[in-house]
Amino acid sequence: MDFCPGGALAVKNGDKVVPVLNSVIEAFERQRLPVFFTRDWHPIDHTSFKSRGGTWPPHCVKGTPGAEFQPGLRIPKAAVIISKGSSRDAEAYSGFQGTDLEQRLKSLDVDEIFLGGLATDYCVKETTLDARKAGFSVTVMDDCTRAVDARPGDGDRALADMRRAGAKLATSSEVIKQLASTQQ
Ligand code: ZN
Repeated sequence: MDFCPGGALAVKNGDKVVPVLNSVIEAFERQRLPVFFTRDWHPIDHTSFKSRGGTWPPHCVKGTPGAEFQPGLRIPKAAVIISKGSSRDAEAYSGFQGTDLEQRLKSLDVDEIFLGGLATDYCVKETTLDARKAGFSVTVMDDCTRAVDARPGDGDRALADMRRAGAKLATSSEVIKQLASTQQ
């Protein structure tokens, strides 16, 4: 919840991604496709916090309400939840960093990832770049993300970086339509 309005590290309009993500998640469930969630799950003295010389106010401290998923976000029973940034001394913007996400995806024979969440210019970007490095096809659903925009334009630059790394951009409704047309 910390990345949504009212949270410790709120992204402007961060809560607006919830209904669009829910539509995509439902479409994945209909197709019996795996759904993964990544979350920040920080110790109270995490290296990214200002108290330790990092960039950010304390956020997503494990076990606290701030680290919970935003209420209303659809979490399928079969979903896999990946916690990241849980070592005291390592930042992890990417869901692949310090986790078994890559092995888990590969063990399910996943070769294509559709991605959204918060924030465009940090965790979405780094997760996308790592996914490309690991050889996955990646589609970033640009209506399912919002940027911190610490410097104006950071979000747009992040999307450009992801495209340059070979990621596709699409809207959630394009992805849902594509899924429906590949129905077995
Ligand atoms: Zn964090």
